Amino acid sequence: MTDALVVRSDDCLLHVPGAEIWVGVAIPGTEVPERAERIEDALVAAGHPVVTAVPHDDDVLLRVHDPGLVAHLRAVHDRWVAAGFPEDPGQDRVVPYVMPTAGMLDGLPEREPTAVHAAAGRWCYDTMTLVGAGTWAAARAAVDVTLTAVDAVVAGTPLTYALVRPPGHHATRSAYGGSCYLNNAAVAAQALRDAGHDVVAVVDIDAHHGNGTQMLFYDRSDVAYASLHVDPGAGWFPHYLGFADETGRGPGLGATLNVPLAEGTPDGPWVDAVDRIAAWVEHSGATALVVSLGVDAAADDPESPLQVTGTGYESAGRRLAALGLPTVAVQEGGYHLDTLGPLVAATLRGLAPSDRPRR
Ligand SMILES: [Zn+2]
Repeated sequence: MTDALVVRSDDCLLHVPGAEIWVGVAIPGTEVPERAERIEDALVAAGHPVVTAVPHDDDVLLRVHDPGLVAHLRAVHDRWVAAGFPEDPGQDRVVPYVMPTAGMLDGLPEREPTAVHAAAGRWCYDTMTLVGAGTWAAARAAVDVTLTAVDAVVAGTPLTYALVRPPGHHATRSAYGGSCYLNNAAVAAQALRDAGHDVVAVVDIDAHHGNGTQMLFYDRSDVAYASLHVDPGAGWFPHYLGFADETGRGPGLGATLNVPLAEGTPDGPWVDAVDRIAAWVEHSGATALVVSLGVDAAADDPESPLQVTGTGYESAGRRLAALGLPTVAVQEGGYHLDTLGPLVAATLRGLAPSDRPRR
Protein backbone atom coordinates (compact mmCIF):
# COMPACT_ATOMS: atom_id res chain seq x y z
CA MET A 1 0.00 0.00 0.00
CA THR A 2 1.18 3.51 -0.75
CA ASP A 3 0.85 5.61 2.37
CA ALA A 4 -0.36 9.16 2.66
CA LEU A 5 2.36 11.75 3.14
CA VAL A 6 1.72 13.36 6.53
CA VAL A 7 2.61 17.04 7.00
CA ARG A 8 2.81 18.48 10.51
CA SER A 9 4.26 21.29 12.61
CA ASP A 10 5.25 21.66 16.25
CA ASP A 11 3.69 25.12 16.21
CA CYS A 12 0.21 23.62 15.82
CA LEU A 13 0.54 22.60 19.47
CA LEU A 14 0.87 26.20 20.66
CA HIS A 15 -2.87 26.92 20.76
CA VAL A 16 -4.30 25.96 24.15
CA PRO A 17 -8.01 26.79 24.28
CA GLY A 18 -8.28 26.71 28.04
CA ALA A 19 -12.01 27.15 28.36
CA GLU A 20 -14.95 27.59 26.03
CA ILE A 21 -17.60 30.02 27.23
CA TRP A 22 -20.83 28.14 26.63
CA VAL A 23 -24.17 29.62 27.74
CA GLY A 24 -22.14 31.97 29.88
CA VAL A 25 -20.27 29.22 31.68
CA ALA A 26 -16.58 28.37 31.25
CA ILE A 27 -16.30 24.70 30.31
CA PRO A 28 -13.06 22.88 29.45
CA GLY A 29 -12.07 23.21 25.80
CA THR A 30 -11.92 19.91 23.91
CA GLU A 31 -9.79 21.07 20.98
CA VAL A 32 -6.58 20.36 22.89
CA PRO A 33 -2.95 19.96 21.68
CA GLU A 34 -2.94 16.30 22.65
CA ARG A 35 -5.30 15.65 19.72
CA ALA A 36 -2.49 16.28 17.26
CA GLU A 37 -0.04 14.22 19.27
CA ARG A 38 -2.40 11.26 19.40
CA ILE A 39 -3.05 11.45 15.66
CA GLU A 40 0.65 11.69 14.84
CA ASP A 41 1.43 8.71 17.08
CA ALA A 42 -1.18 6.60 15.28
CA LEU A 43 0.04 7.60 11.82
CA VAL A 44 3.69 6.99 12.65
CA ALA A 45 2.73 3.58 14.01
CA ALA A 46 0.88 2.90 10.76
CA GLY A 47 4.06 3.63 8.83
CA HIS A 48 3.16 6.90 7.13
CA PRO A 49 6.05 9.13 6.10
CA VAL A 50 6.00 12.39 8.06
CA VAL A 51 7.45 15.75 7.03
CA THR A 52 7.45 19.12 8.74
CA ALA A 53 5.76 22.10 7.10
CA VAL A 54 7.75 24.83 5.39
CA PRO A 55 6.76 28.50 5.73
CA HIS A 56 4.56 30.12 3.09
CA ASP A 57 3.66 33.76 2.63
CA ASP A 58 0.17 35.19 3.20
CA ASP A 59 -0.79 35.29 -0.48
CA VAL A 60 -3.37 32.48 -0.56
CA LEU A 61 -4.52 33.20 2.99
CA LEU A 62 -5.37 36.80 2.10
CA ARG A 63 -7.41 35.73 -0.90
CA VAL A 64 -9.46 33.37 1.26
CA HIS A 65 -9.93 35.64 4.29
CA ASP A 66 -10.67 39.31 4.83
CA PRO A 67 -7.31 40.96 5.49
CA GLY A 68 -8.97 42.59 8.50
CA LEU A 69 -9.63 39.20 10.07
CA VAL A 70 -6.04 38.11 9.51
CA ALA A 71 -4.69 41.35 10.98
CA HIS A 72 -7.06 41.06 13.95
CA LEU A 73 -6.05 37.50 14.78
CA ARG A 74 -2.37 38.32 14.42
CA ALA A 75 -2.54 41.20 16.93
CA VAL A 76 -5.53 40.76 19.21
CA HIS A 77 -3.95 38.77 22.02
CA ASP A 78 -1.09 41.25 22.38
CA ARG A 79 -3.64 44.07 22.47
CA TRP A 80 -5.67 42.17 25.09
CA VAL A 81 -2.62 41.73 27.31
CA ALA A 82 -1.57 45.36 26.81
CA ALA A 83 -5.05 46.46 27.91
CA GLY A 84 -4.56 44.56 31.15
CA PHE A 85 -7.37 42.02 30.88
CA PRO A 86 -5.29 39.14 32.33
CA GLU A 87 -5.08 41.11 35.61
CA ASP A 88 -8.41 42.92 35.54
CA PRO A 89 -10.90 41.29 35.35
CA GLY A 90 -8.64 38.23 35.23
CA GLN A 91 -9.18 36.81 31.73
CA ASP A 92 -6.03 35.87 29.81
CA ARG A 93 -7.88 34.82 26.67
CA VAL A 94 -9.71 37.04 24.24
CA VAL A 95 -13.45 36.61 24.79
CA PRO A 96 -16.06 38.48 22.74
CA TYR A 97 -18.36 40.82 24.58
CA VAL A 98 -20.52 42.60 22.01
CA MET A 99 -21.13 41.39 18.48
CA PRO A 100 -22.34 43.72 15.72
CA THR A 101 -25.07 41.46 14.35
CA ALA A 102 -27.19 42.41 11.34
CA GLY A 103 -29.99 43.12 13.79
CA MET A 104 -27.88 45.67 15.66
CA LEU A 105 -26.51 47.53 12.65
CA ASP A 106 -29.63 47.40 10.48
CA GLY A 107 -27.58 48.05 7.36
CA LEU A 108 -25.10 50.57 8.72
CA PRO A 109 -21.45 49.70 8.09
CA GLU A 110 -19.43 47.77 10.66
CA ARG A 111 -16.86 50.14 12.11
CA GLU A 112 -13.65 48.90 13.65
CA PRO A 113 -14.23 49.60 17.35
CA THR A 114 -11.66 51.38 19.47
CA ALA A 115 -11.78 49.08 22.50
CA VAL A 116 -10.08 45.71 22.09
CA HIS A 117 -12.84 44.00 24.08
CA ALA A 118 -15.32 45.27 21.49
CA ALA A 119 -13.06 44.35 18.57
CA ALA A 120 -13.11 40.80 19.91
CA GLY A 121 -16.73 40.52 18.72
CA ARG A 122 -16.19 42.35 15.43
CA TRP A 123 -14.41 39.34 13.91
CA CYS A 124 -15.95 36.44 15.85
CA TYR A 125 -19.41 34.88 15.89
CA ASP A 126 -19.46 32.77 19.05
CA THR A 127 -18.14 32.76 22.62
CA MET A 128 -16.49 29.34 22.47
CA THR A 129 -13.51 30.22 20.33
CA LEU A 130 -11.07 32.04 22.56
CA VAL A 131 -7.72 33.49 21.53
CA GLY A 132 -4.76 32.76 23.77
CA ALA A 133 -1.04 33.49 23.64
CA GLY A 134 -0.28 30.74 21.10
CA THR A 135 -3.45 30.81 19.04
CA TRP A 136 -2.20 32.91 16.15
CA ALA A 137 1.07 30.98 15.83
CA ALA A 138 -0.81 27.67 15.75
CA ALA A 139 -3.49 28.81 13.31
CA ARG A 140 -0.90 30.32 10.99
CA ALA A 141 1.24 27.17 11.22
CA ALA A 142 -1.81 25.14 10.21
CA VAL A 143 -1.95 27.20 7.01
CA ASP A 144 1.73 26.40 6.35
CA VAL A 145 1.05 22.71 6.96
CA THR A 146 -1.87 22.82 4.55
CA LEU A 147 0.05 24.65 1.83
CA THR A 148 2.99 22.25 2.20
CA ALA A 149 0.55 19.36 1.73
CA VAL A 150 -0.86 21.05 -1.38
CA ASP A 151 2.64 21.60 -2.78
CA ALA A 152 3.38 17.89 -2.50
CA VAL A 153 0.17 16.98 -4.33
CA VAL A 154 0.88 19.51 -7.05
CA ALA A 155 4.34 17.93 -7.38
CA GLY A 156 2.76 14.54 -7.98
CA THR A 157 2.16 12.92 -4.59
CA PRO A 158 -1.31 11.40 -4.97
CA LEU A 159 -2.42 11.74 -1.33
CA THR A 160 -1.26 14.05 1.43
CA TYR A 161 -2.64 14.66 4.90
CA ALA A 162 -2.36 17.99 6.70
CA LEU A 163 -2.19 17.22 10.42
CA VAL A 164 -3.49 20.56 11.60
CA ARG A 165 -5.05 22.15 14.59
CA PRO A 166 -6.83 24.37 15.31
CA PRO A 167 -9.31 23.15 12.70
CA GLY A 168 -10.73 25.49 10.08
CA HIS A 169 -14.04 24.62 8.42
CA HIS A 170 -16.21 26.90 10.59
CA ALA A 171 -14.07 29.98 9.84
CA THR A 172 -15.73 32.29 7.30
CA ARG A 173 -14.23 35.01 5.15
CA SER A 174 -14.41 37.58 7.94
CA ALA A 175 -15.23 35.70 11.14
CA TYR A 176 -13.83 32.95 13.31
CA GLY A 177 -15.89 30.59 15.45
CA GLY A 178 -16.59 26.95 16.19
CA SER A 179 -13.03 26.39 17.48
CA CYS A 180 -11.77 27.50 14.03
CA TYR A 181 -9.71 30.61 13.19
CA LEU A 182 -8.33 30.25 9.66
CA ASN A 183 -9.98 27.97 7.11
CA ASN A 184 -7.33 25.43 6.16
CA ALA A 185 -9.51 23.43 3.77
CA ALA A 186 -10.46 26.60 1.91
CA VAL A 187 -6.79 27.56 1.68
CA ALA A 188 -6.09 24.11 0.21
CA ALA A 189 -8.89 24.47 -2.34
CA GLN A 190 -7.76 27.95 -3.38
CA ALA A 191 -4.13 26.82 -3.68
CA LEU A 192 -5.14 23.88 -5.87
CA ARG A 193 -7.14 26.28 -8.06
CA ASP A 194 -4.08 28.50 -8.31
CA ALA A 195 -2.00 25.48 -9.31
CA GLY A 196 -4.17 25.00 -12.38
CA HIS A 197 -7.08 22.81 -11.36
CA ASP A 198 -10.13 24.41 -13.00
CA VAL A 199 -12.56 22.85 -10.54
CA VAL A 200 -11.71 21.63 -7.04
CA ALA A 201 -14.09 19.65 -4.84
CA VAL A 202 -14.17 19.91 -1.06
CA VAL A 203 -15.84 16.97 0.68
CA ASP A 204 -16.47 17.59 4.36
CA ILE A 205 -16.98 14.43 6.41
CA ASP A 206 -16.73 16.13 9.82
CA ALA A 207 -19.80 15.54 11.98
CA HIS A 208 -20.71 19.23 11.71
CA HIS A 209 -21.53 21.35 8.70
CA GLY A 210 -18.53 23.32 7.46
CA ASN A 211 -20.38 26.61 7.28
CA GLY A 212 -17.19 28.61 6.75
CA THR A 213 -16.02 26.62 3.77
CA GLN A 214 -19.49 26.57 2.27
CA MET A 215 -19.91 30.35 2.43
CA LEU A 216 -16.37 31.09 1.23
CA PHE A 217 -17.25 29.39 -2.06
CA TYR A 218 -21.03 29.85 -2.10
CA ASP A 219 -20.99 32.20 -5.08
CA ARG A 220 -18.35 30.32 -7.04
CA SER A 221 -18.62 27.49 -9.56
CA ASP A 222 -14.92 26.60 -9.45
CA VAL A 223 -14.96 25.08 -5.96
CA ALA A 224 -17.68 22.51 -5.30
CA TYR A 225 -18.51 21.98 -1.62
CA ALA A 226 -20.31 18.91 -0.29
CA SER A 227 -20.93 17.97 3.33
CA LEU A 228 -22.67 15.25 5.30
CA HIS A 229 -23.32 16.18 8.90
CA VAL A 230 -25.71 15.99 11.79
CA ASP A 231 -28.87 17.93 10.92
CA PRO A 232 -28.56 21.50 12.22
CA GLY A 233 -32.36 21.51 12.30
CA ALA A 234 -32.16 18.92 15.10
CA GLY A 235 -30.39 21.51 17.25
CA TRP A 236 -26.74 21.04 16.37
CA PHE A 237 -23.91 23.46 15.61
CA PRO A 238 -23.68 25.55 13.45
CA HIS A 239 -27.48 25.80 13.86
CA TYR A 240 -28.02 28.45 11.17
CA LEU A 241 -26.46 26.77 8.14
CA GLY A 242 -26.08 23.29 6.67
CA PHE A 243 -29.61 22.71 5.43
CA ALA A 244 -30.38 20.72 2.28
CA ASP A 245 -31.85 23.72 0.49
CA GLU A 246 -28.52 25.57 0.57
CA THR A 247 -27.21 24.77 -2.91
CA GLY A 248 -25.13 27.83 -3.87
CA ARG A 249 -25.87 31.29 -5.21
CA GLY A 250 -25.44 33.10 -8.51
CA PRO A 251 -22.64 31.51 -10.52
CA GLY A 252 -22.22 29.05 -7.64
CA LEU A 253 -25.78 27.76 -7.82
CA GLY A 254 -25.61 23.96 -7.82
CA ALA A 255 -22.01 23.85 -6.57
CA THR A 256 -22.99 23.23 -2.94
CA LEU A 257 -24.50 19.98 -1.63
CA ASN A 258 -25.62 19.41 1.95
CA VAL A 259 -26.70 16.02 3.28
CA PRO A 260 -28.03 16.54 6.82
CA LEU A 261 -28.33 13.32 8.81
CA ALA A 262 -30.48 12.34 11.78
CA GLU A 263 -29.02 11.97 15.24
CA GLY A 264 -27.83 8.39 15.75
CA THR A 265 -27.02 7.76 12.08
CA PRO A 266 -24.77 4.64 11.90
CA ASP A 267 -22.27 3.41 9.29
CA GLY A 268 -24.75 2.20 6.64
CA PRO A 269 -26.65 5.40 5.85
CA TRP A 270 -23.56 7.53 6.64
CA VAL A 271 -21.50 5.70 3.99
CA ASP A 272 -24.50 5.86 1.62
CA ALA A 273 -24.36 9.66 2.02
CA VAL A 274 -20.66 9.60 1.16
CA ASP A 275 -21.53 7.56 -1.93
CA ARG A 276 -24.12 10.14 -2.94
CA ILE A 277 -21.55 12.91 -2.48
CA ALA A 278 -18.89 10.99 -4.43
CA ALA A 279 -21.28 10.61 -7.36
CA TRP A 280 -22.02 14.35 -7.20
CA VAL A 281 -18.30 15.16 -7.17
CA GLU A 282 -17.77 12.92 -10.17
CA HIS A 283 -20.23 15.08 -12.14
CA SER A 284 -18.75 18.34 -10.85
CA GLY A 285 -15.79 18.21 -13.20
CA ALA A 286 -13.36 18.46 -10.28
CA THR A 287 -9.78 17.43 -11.00
CA ALA A 288 -8.57 17.67 -7.40
CA LEU A 289 -10.11 16.84 -4.03
CA VAL A 290 -9.85 18.33 -0.57
CA VAL A 291 -11.24 16.19 2.24
CA SER A 292 -12.23 18.00 5.43
CA LEU A 293 -11.39 15.05 7.61
CA GLY A 294 -13.24 15.35 10.88
CA VAL A 295 -13.62 12.15 12.85
CA ASP A 296 -16.14 13.49 15.35
CA ALA A 297 -18.95 11.54 13.65
CA ALA A 298 -17.56 8.55 15.56
CA ALA A 299 -19.85 6.80 17.99
CA ASP A 300 -17.73 7.59 21.04
CA ASP A 301 -17.06 11.24 20.21
CA PRO A 302 -18.42 13.68 22.81
CA GLU A 303 -19.22 16.42 20.29
CA SER A 304 -21.80 14.76 18.03
CA PRO A 305 -24.61 12.18 18.14
CA LEU A 306 -23.61 10.30 14.98
CA GLN A 307 -22.63 6.63 15.39
CA VAL A 308 -19.95 5.99 12.79
CA THR A 309 -17.16 3.41 13.34
CA GLY A 310 -13.61 3.09 12.05
CA THR A 311 -14.95 0.68 9.44
CA GLY A 312 -17.32 3.41 8.27
CA TYR A 313 -14.51 5.94 8.03
CA GLU A 314 -12.35 3.50 6.05
CA SER A 315 -15.28 2.88 3.68
CA ALA A 316 -15.73 6.63 3.25
CA GLY A 317 -12.07 6.93 2.35
CA ARG A 318 -12.37 4.13 -0.18
CA ARG A 319 -15.45 5.69 -1.82
CA LEU A 320 -13.63 9.01 -2.20
CA ALA A 321 -10.43 7.32 -3.39
CA ALA A 322 -12.47 5.73 -6.19
CA LEU A 323 -12.82 9.21 -7.71
CA GLY A 324 -9.14 8.87 -8.64
CA LEU A 325 -8.35 12.50 -7.87
CA PRO A 326 -5.19 13.95 -6.35
CA THR A 327 -6.22 14.49 -2.75
CA VAL A 328 -5.30 16.69 0.18
CA ALA A 329 -6.94 15.55 3.43
CA VAL A 330 -7.08 18.26 6.08
CA GLN A 331 -7.78 17.52 9.73
CA GLU A 332 -10.94 19.06 11.19
CA GLY A 333 -12.73 17.84 14.35
CA GLY A 334 -12.48 14.67 16.41
CA TYR A 335 -12.27 14.89 20.18
CA HIS A 336 -12.20 11.43 21.72
CA LEU A 337 -8.50 11.18 22.47
CA ASP A 338 -8.35 7.40 22.71
CA THR A 339 -9.84 6.76 19.27
CA LEU A 340 -9.22 9.75 17.03
CA GLY A 341 -5.78 8.52 15.95
CA PRO A 342 -7.03 5.11 14.78
CA LEU A 343 -10.03 6.79 13.11
CA VAL A 344 -7.79 9.09 11.07
CA ALA A 345 -5.55 6.13 10.23
CA ALA A 346 -8.59 4.15 9.07
CA THR A 347 -9.73 6.99 6.81
CA LEU A 348 -6.28 7.35 5.26
CA ARG A 349 -6.14 3.58 4.74
CA GLY A 350 -9.32 3.91 2.68
CA LEU A 351 -8.02 6.93 0.81
CA ALA A 352 -4.64 5.31 0.04
CA PRO A 353 -3.65 5.37 -3.62
CA SER A 354 -3.27 1.61 -3.94
CA ASP A 355 -7.00 1.38 -3.41
CA ARG A 356 -7.73 3.68 -6.33
CA PRO A 357 -8.70 2.57 -9.78
CA ARG A 358 -6.11 3.83 -12.27
CA ARG A 359 -7.28 6.21 -14.93
ZN1 LIG B 1 -17.05 18.85 13.99
